[in-house]
Amino acid sequence: MSNKGLVVITGASSGIGEATARSFSQAGYPLLLLARRLDRLEALKLPNTVCEKVDVTNRDQIKSAVEKAEKKYGPVDCLVNNAGVMLLGLADTQDPKEWEQMVQVNIMGVLNGIHVVFAGMKERRHGTIINVSSVAGRKTYPNHAIYCGTKFGVHAFTEQIREEASSFDVRFITIAPGAVETELLSHTTSKEIIDGYNEWKKEMGQPLQSEDVASSILFAYQQPQRVCIREIVLCATRQDK
Ligand code: NDP
Repeated sequence: MSNKGLVVITGASSGIGEATARSFSQAGYPLLLLARRLDRLEALKLPNTVCEKVDVTNRDQIKSAVEKAEKKYGPVDCLVNNAGVMLLGLADTQDPKEWEQMVQVNIMGVLNGIHVVFAGMKERRHGTIINVSSVAGRKTYPNHAIYCGTKFGVHAFTEQIREEASSFDVRFITIAPGAVETELLSHTTSKEIIDGYNEWKKEMGQPLQSEDVASSILFAYQQPQRVCIREIVLCATRQDK
């Protein structure tokens, strides 16, 4: 068993989650990687890693995956709640099923993860929960109304749970990136919105890369337990808003 605590990363099958899995693995942490695309998790071939097919909207699936990994590597010391979806659209035309999916994954998915690991961390008086929100959790953007709603939610509940966790020496951290080059935009159904977003990214020159966000997550976690970096907001230098 590693002397480093178990790190759980949701949505590790692509983008920021995948880069975070690689960074934490390189730093020597045992990992539990969760996503629906199990083949993508296994293809990473990271050492000391358990990969489980989990839909974060299903709390029981997260719980059994965590129990399985804890048997191997000991208690979870860090949860990176990264899984998310961005389905851009307008309030009068977008299919409400897309709103439901964003609320389920971006809000309930994060809360489900917290519910599974937080009580144990409180008991052990040690642990860190890192919630990946967005700069769209601090300000609004065109076509992003409901996505922003979910990310403002993540900012809000993370801040309040952080207060409640502080006397138990458990840290809650919000990571708020701007535009990052990942698969995230590809799930939006309006071609016009995708084209507009890509145009904006082009004007930006080089948007953030997943590795930039991963290194911020690792940096925040590796601070001494007495230090809680409450929030990191990072954007490409040329991102204007
Ligand atoms: P990707 O689309 O590349 O990754 C999203 C990840 O979430 C995938 O691994 C996907 O795995 C997982 N996921 C989606 N739905 C579920 C589900 N129901 N259950 C389990 N896993 C799920 O996008 P990013 O890497 O960009 O996104 C990661 C996080 O970063 C998200 O929370 C996003 O909102 C946030 N973010 C992204 C920004 C960007 O510009 N890219 C900017 C700011 C924040 P699978 O499909 O295999 O289940």
